[in-house]
Amino acid sequence: MESQQIYLDAEQIVRALSEELLAPRDGECLVCFVDRQLTEHGCDGTRRFALHFRGIRAPRATALERTLSEKGACCCDCEIYANAYERVRGTDAEPCRGVARGSAQPCTLWRRQQRGRW
Ligand SMILES: [Zn+2]
Ligand SMILES: [Zn+2]
Repeated sequence: MESQQIYLDAEQIVRALSEELLAPRDGECLVCFVDRQLTEHGCDGTRRFALHFRGIRAPRATALERTLSEKGACCCDCEIYANAYERVRGTDAEPCRGVARGSAQPCTLWRRQQRGRW
């Protein structure tokens, strides 16, 4: 059961990190959370913030990686904003409108980008 042990260790590390600096705010949605983290910490070329959010807030959203990939964010967090979601016009200064606990959906500040505009 070594792989199980490694998995548990990784989870503990994620938890420890989350308590220090990466905690989603109460009710904050995935997309607002990742946006805030990217602004503060930048993208490291992985989907660490999206997956981190899932680990803390929406552990049942097991299809998250696939869903993001289908929307064009296959490899890193900033692709969520390049390819998947954009702010609804005029909402730039608004804080997250909130989602239900356990949800990995964006709040209503975000809308799907239309594909194929380039
Ligand atoms: Zn990136
Ligand atoms: Zn939000």
